[in-house]
Amino acid sequence: MLSIKNLSARVEDKQILNGLNLEVKAGEVHAIMGPNGAGKSTLGYVLSGRDGYEVTEGTIELDGQSILDLEAEERARAGLFLAFQYPVEIPGVSNLEFLKASVDAHREARGQDPLDAVSFMKQAREKCKLVDLDQNFLKRGVNEGFSGGEKKRNELMQMMLLEPKLAILDETDSGLDIDALQVVADGVNSQRSPDRAFIVVTHYQRLLDFIVPDYVHVLAKGRIVKSGGKELALELEEKGYGWIEQEVS
Ligand code: ADP
Ligand code: MG
Ligand code: MG
Repeated sequence: MLSIKNLSARVEDKQILNGLNLEVKAGEVHAIMGPNGAGKSTLGYVLSGRDGYEVTEGTIELDGQSILDLEAEERARAGLFLAFQYPVEIPGVSNLEFLKASVDAHREARGQDPLDAVSFMKQAREKCKLVDLDQNFLKRGVNEGFSGGEKKRNELMQMMLLEPKLAILDETDSGLDIDALQVVADGVNSQRSPDRAFIVVTHYQRLLDFIVPDYVHVLAKGRIVKSGGKELALELEEKGYGWIEQEVS
C-alpha cells in the first residue's frame, strides 16, 4: 500500500529525514518509536504533503502511484489521513460543518454524491458514541476549547468518517489518561481492516498494549534504524534508545 524508498526531506534548510525506507501493506499496523527530534512528526507531515516540507531524495508511492506531485488535499482524497500531534483550532466553523465538508470532498473525489444532511448527522452521532464524545461536540467550533483527550477523540471520529486507506496517528497517546487511551485504542482497533493500514507514532510502549502492532520501527536521525515485532517496543521501554544509536554508529 505504502512504499517509501530512500526518503530524504528538509524543512527550512534543515535536513531531517535521511534515506528512510518503509513498506506498509494493507491490513497492517506499524508503530514508529524513537527519540525526541528523530523526525517522526516530520515523516507524517512529509507524507501528508504539508507546505514547507521538501523532499530532496527518494520516492513515496501509495498503491504503486507516486504521491510526491500531489497537494495535501489530493493526498487526503487518495486515502491518506494524518491525525496531528497538535490539532488546529478553527473557531467559527462547527465540527459538524467541518466534518461534512471533508467527507463530501472525499466522496466527490470518488465520484459519489454528497451525503444528505440527515444521513450524515446519523453517522456523526454513531461515531460520537463510539469514541465516547458527547453529541454537543458536533455543534462546537473545531477543536475550540477542547481538552487534549477531547481533541484526540474528535480526530478519531474524523478518521472514522473519512474511512482512509492509510491513517497516520502522531502521538495519539499524548495527554491521555488511561481511560481515554483505552477509548482511543478501541476506536482504532474497530477501524482495523484488511484493506486499511495504520502508522502509529508513539513514545510509550503502553499504547501498544492496546493497539497491538504488526511491526515496530525505531526512527533515529531521520531514518528507520531497527525494525521488529511488538516485543521490540518492550525492549525499548526497558533499555531506552541509546543502545540502538550505538549499534547503528
Ligand atoms: P520527533 O517528532 O521525532 O520528535 P520532529 O519531526 O518533530 O521530531 O523534528 C525533527 C527535527 O527537526 C527536530 O530537531 C526539530 O527541531 C526539527 N524541526 C522540525 N520542524 C522544524 C522547522 N519547521 N524548522 C526547523 N527545524 C524543524
Ligand atoms: Mg513528534
Ligand atoms: Mg503545496
